Amino acid sequence: MPFLTTDFGNPSGAHAVSRRARKAVDEAREQVAECLGCRPFEVVFTSGGTEADNMAVLGSLDGGGGTAVCTAIEHHAVLHPVESRGGRVVAVGPDGVVDLDALSAALDEEVSVVSVMLANNEVGVVQPLEAVAAAVREAAPRARLHTDAVQAALWLDVAGLAATCDLVSVSAHKFGGPKGVGAMVVRGGTRIAPRTLGGGQERDLRSGTHNVAGIVGMAAALRATVATRNELLARISPLRDRLADELTARLPGVVETGVRGRKVAGSCHLRFAGVESEALLFLLDEAGVCASAASACASGAQAASHVLAAMGVSGDDARGSVRFSLGWTTTTAEIDHAIDVVGEAVERLRAR
Ligand code: PLP
Repeated sequence: MPFLTTDFGNPSGAHAVSRRARKAVDEAREQVAECLGCRPFEVVFTSGGTEADNMAVLGSLDGGGGTAVCTAIEHHAVLHPVESRGGRVVAVGPDGVVDLDALSAALDEEVSVVSVMLANNEVGVVQPLEAVAAAVREAAPRARLHTDAVQAALWLDVAGLAATCDLVSVSAHKFGGPKGVGAMVVRGGTRIAPRTLGGGQERDLRSGTHNVAGIVGMAAALRATVATRNELLARISPLRDRLADELTARLPGVVETGVRGRKVAGSCHLRFAGVESEALLFLLDEAGVCASAASACASGAQAASHVLAAMGVSGDDARGSVRFSLGWTTTTAEIDHAIDVVGEAVERLRAR
């Protein structure tokens, strides 16, 4: 709040109010760096995950030429920039894990950036970044390795798991911070071209006046996330298991997507045979259960999931898929309510 009221200074200015804002940004940078396992000067504040992902892919291409490579299940904030520059898209297996042989086959001296997400936003599958890094360092020595850790930061130790990556994107609203702010780790020595030119903020990599309140809020949320992660995992993991187990036991024709042990704790992705997810989501919404189908897109419309298609799930099978996301606010009572509501809604739709 102070940065929206009394300390509403521009951190790039020189007077006292600006200096207070600058101090807050500097402190937030140190805290974010500590949580993400990098040095403070390696943190670049952005407007969110999309900007960080675009910066990683397009900034690498503009800074070093060559070709971009990513997996077929990346968020569109990575996939679209890669495709827009004629990059290579690597297959995943039916479990959603990147095919390391296909990845190696897509790599060569020309590749300047490889992007493999840490955790997927639709099905929650976690990628083996160490093995990915080994393949990239061997076959594409010139490439920057980027990971989109937007969905991982709440659940996983990004500092450890992404330690081999040159570029790491996060977004505050996925771990309880404000919307419209994020960060990218750009490890020392990694050369990328800026996407936004102007005042030269953020080591010339991202010009524009800092979103001070957003940055401070993000740092606070990230610190709280890291400090309470073990309790969150211990509480949410069994709730997710109960939601999936109860629904698959209660209803015939329910398939859980992905291998549970390879997914983040808050992700429960289920496919209900013979049901249209849009109709199901409508009934759930009416009963106070907020869920989604594929990723949330700008229009709010349900687009077919490129993630499920990449995992080899047929169109028919994907049609009844729903993504239940648990988080730090999720309670046992809510899961019990969701089990009842989903059970009744699926039975009602199937009876029609
Ligand atoms: N990457 C992943 C994996 C996401 O889930 C999202 C948003 O849902 C983004 C990137 C985009 O982040 P933002 O909404 O902060 O632009």
